[in-house]
Amino acid sequence: MLFTKVIGQWQLKTKMAEMILSGRFPHALMLAGPTGNGGLPLALAVAQYLHCENRQGNDSCGACPSCLKHQKFIHPDLYFSFPVVKPEKKREPPVSTDYIKEWRAALSQNPYLNYYDWMQRIEAENRQGNITADECRQIIHHFSLKTFEAAYKIQIIWLAEFLGNEGNILLKLIEEPPPNTIFILLVENLEPVLNTIISRTQIVKVPPIEDNDLAQALLQNFEMDSTAAQKIARICDGNFDTAMIIAAGEENVNDKLLHQWLACCYHLKQKPSEANTQTLLEWTETIAKVGRENQKIFLKYALFFLRECSLLVQTGHSEKLDGDELKFARGLSAKLQPEQFEAITGILNRIHYHIERNANPKIQFLSNSFKIASVFINEPVRVD
Ligand SMILES: [Zn+2]
Repeated sequence: MLFTKVIGQWQLKTKMAEMILSGRFPHALMLAGPTGNGGLPLALAVAQYLHCENRQGNDSCGACPSCLKHQKFIHPDLYFSFPVVKPEKKREPPVSTDYIKEWRAALSQNPYLNYYDWMQRIEAENRQGNITADECRQIIHHFSLKTFEAAYKIQIIWLAEFLGNEGNILLKLIEEPPPNTIFILLVENLEPVLNTIISRTQIVKVPPIEDNDLAQALLQNFEMDSTAAQKIARICDGNFDTAMIIAAGEENVNDKLLHQWLACCYHLKQKPSEANTQTLLEWTETIAKVGRENQKIFLKYALFFLRECSLLVQTGHSEKLDGDELKFARGLSAKLQPEQFEAITGILNRIHYHIERNANPKIQFLSNSFKIASVFINEPVRVD
C-alpha cells in the first residue's frame, strides 16, 4: 500500500517515512488505536516503503517488483499473523497461514476491517479468535531463515492483544531480533497486552482520522455529494470502517429515530401514559429489526448528537448541526445539564458494547430506556 492511499494521518505518515529514511525505525513498533483509524493500512505502507527499490521521496514507487508484490500482499519477506479459529478438519491448533487466502482478500477489499468483520469472513460463528502458541513458534521459525529478496524481514501482527500469554514465547525474539528484522504489532487496546511485550516495543498511537480526510475518502469511494459525506464523517469518531458502513447503508433516518426515542424516554417517568409506553415498545421493535450494524450506527449517531448538545449547553452554538437537528438539540439542551448528557452518553456506550457482543437488542434498548428516563428526572442510575 502506498502512503498516499492511507486516509489522512498526515503527521504519522511523515513521521514513519522520516524514521525509515534516517535509519531510526524501531525494530519493534506497536501501533495502537481502533482498526478503523487505519493502523493496518499504515503498517502495510511502512512495509512496502521499507522494501521499495525505487522510493519516491516520502512514498514508495508503486511500480518496482517489490511494490507489485506488496500490492498483492504476497511479498515473501512480509509475514502476517492475526487471530484465527480452528478450521474444520484440522487437528492441530490453527495458524494464520490456514487463512492466508481469506486474509489477502480481506486486505484488498478493506484494510480498515475490524475483528468482528474478520471473524465473519473466516466463518468463526461464535468462536473466539486466537493467535496461538503454534503461530508464535512459526514466527520464530520465519525469523531464523534468511530473507528471500529484500534487505528487511517484516512481521505484522494484527490485533496483538489476541496473543494473550502466548506472547511470552516471542519475548526473546522481540528483545534481541536478528539483524534487519522488523516487528509491527497492531493493537486496539493495550490493556490485555503483556507488559513485557509493551516495554520492548515503541508505542505510537493512531489517532482518529480528521473529518475532512474521512469525507474526502467517502467521496472517492461512494457516489454522494460533499454535504452527505461531511454528514457521515462527523459521526464516525474518525473511523473509516464505520464511515463505509454508514455510506453503504440505507437512507439515514437516525435523527428521526433518536428524536422519537428520547421523547419516549423523557415522558416515561415525567408523564407516564399507556400510549407512550406503547410507542416505546413499537420503537424497540423497529430498532430491533434494523440489524446489529445499523443499531451500532444509530448509537454512534446518538453519541455524536449528545456531544453536540453538550457543546451547545457550554458554548451556545454547534458547528455541525443545522435545520431540524439543531432545533431538536436546542430543545434538549434547554432541559438537561452537562452531567445528565454525560450519564446518557455512558448508558449509550454500554448499549454499544453489549450489542457488539451479540446481546439481545430489544432487551438492551428497552431496559436502558428506563435508565435514560431516570437520568431525565435526576434519579441515580447504575450503568452495567
Ligand atoms: Zn517500489
